Amino acid sequence: MSLALVQSRALMGLQAPAVTVEVHLANGLPSFTLVGLAEVEVKEARERVRSALQNAGLEFPSNKKITVNLAPADLPKDSGRFDLPIALGLLAASGQINAARLAGWEFSGELSLSGQLRPVRGALATALALRTQEQPARMVLPLGSAEEAALVPGTEIYGARHLLDVVRQFLPVDPGPDTQADGWQRLQSTPPPMPASGPDLADVKGQAAPKRALEIAAAGGHGLLLVGPPGSGKSMLAQRFAGLLPPMDVEQALESAAIASLAGRFTPAQWMQRATASPHHTSSAVALVGGGSPPRPGEISLAHEGVLYLDEFPEFARSALEALREPLETGRITIARAAQRAEFPARFQLIAAMNPCPCGFAGSTQRACRCTPDQVARYQGKLSGPLLDRIDLHVEVPALPPQELLHAPPGEASHAVRARVAAARERALARQGKPNHALQGQEIDTHLALQDAAAQFLQTAATRLGWSARSTHRALKVARTIADLAGSDMVGTAHVAEAVQYRRVLRGTSL
Ligand SMILES: [Zn+2]
Repeated sequence: MSLALVQSRALMGLQAPAVTVEVHLANGLPSFTLVGLAEVEVKEARERVRSALQNAGLEFPSNKKITVNLAPADLPKDSGRFDLPIALGLLAASGQINAARLAGWEFSGELSLSGQLRPVRGALATALALRTQEQPARMVLPLGSAEEAALVPGTEIYGARHLLDVVRQFLPVDPGPDTQADGWQRLQSTPPPMPASGPDLADVKGQAAPKRALEIAAAGGHGLLLVGPPGSGKSMLAQRFAGLLPPMDVEQALESAAIASLAGRFTPAQWMQRATASPHHTSSAVALVGGGSPPRPGEISLAHEGVLYLDEFPEFARSALEALREPLETGRITIARAAQRAEFPARFQLIAAMNPCPCGFAGSTQRACRCTPDQVARYQGKLSGPLLDRIDLHVEVPALPPQELLHAPPGEASHAVRARVAAARERALARQGKPNHALQGQEIDTHLALQDAAAQFLQTAATRLGWSARSTHRALKVARTIADLAGSDMVGTAHVAEAVQYRRVLRGTSL
């Protein structure tokens, strides 16, 4: 047999389309031609495969005219993930392994010059694609990648350490069970561990108002802006927010882990954990929302189903902040680069934090602010109205005097808050099939159940504060969440009154 076919997969964002590696050996002037890869990668892949075969004591068909084609041709094919299937194709076409036995298997893995297998990016996304096809396939991956892939239920994943470990499984004559080495193993999908306990809200003393805002944000899926002087505990609060959210289901966990795997950041300890991404304010728009070629997910996608924490919010580049507007509305981000286009999920909860003014102490009882009203206005003005408008809750985090901190009793534990959050979320889901922050247009009126007195109260407040219709809608959604937390079907005056407070923190902005 001088033609062999080996199945593999490319990566396009989170998609992993099938790729067939065709290897043809012919008589003629000896050559090694690779079709379907970019120029530089062809050269590197050729060298790795040739060297790995020779160093592993296998025969490289150097007296043949070798043609390798990666089909379909129009897929972007990056990295060395096709080394292993190309090597196996060469071995099958030259009769060193049994070509027929490769059917029903898929392979991905980069080869070192000695034939060791090196982990590949995005193993989890690759395994997710296996589930969507009709014929179940078995997949071979390098150890180090296979463990990730095995998290996907209903897949059959094998891990290998060396090219020879794979070759041994596909020899023309079945070698029998006694040749099983520890370099080859079937990975069992591991049952998800119980969510580990992160930092607890009980560690934060005092700060009743910001904690209440955290609970409302978690219950309704609302974005939250924390405004307070340095050292008041904004970061401490933000780092505890993910622990208030209900546990993820397996589908959410798989999607979130697949993104981390694409970025090469997944570790099994993160499985079923809601991530908190906290990029620095010097991050570029690309680092924040994703980009590059091939397109890579940014921090907002790494925070998918978790929390995006942006400290020093006004210090981020304007372009980076404005790029957040689309995903905040849609929960997705589309990245287009030249011929490539990728879409990544980015349904995160935004927690932003900022000082009230450049020096940090405006409105503080601890220290005097040195800023002029003009400086304060300019600082807060770095955040555009449309962006601030997409953050439903704004709350002040005051610095507490030391004596108050010393005598404050321990705060309520995260698990108690999480239970109330889960109950409120279930209420909203049962009523309208989505969290309150996602209500739009007519849905707000349909599901609000606003009492007459509460409507009157909001009307008066909105007129006095000069609110737009959009701001009023935001306050109504927050009021709906406050009522859900209270277990109330109707939204009353008390719920609306509390919601109004969460849009009055920043001076000079009347949204
Ligand atoms: Zn100041």
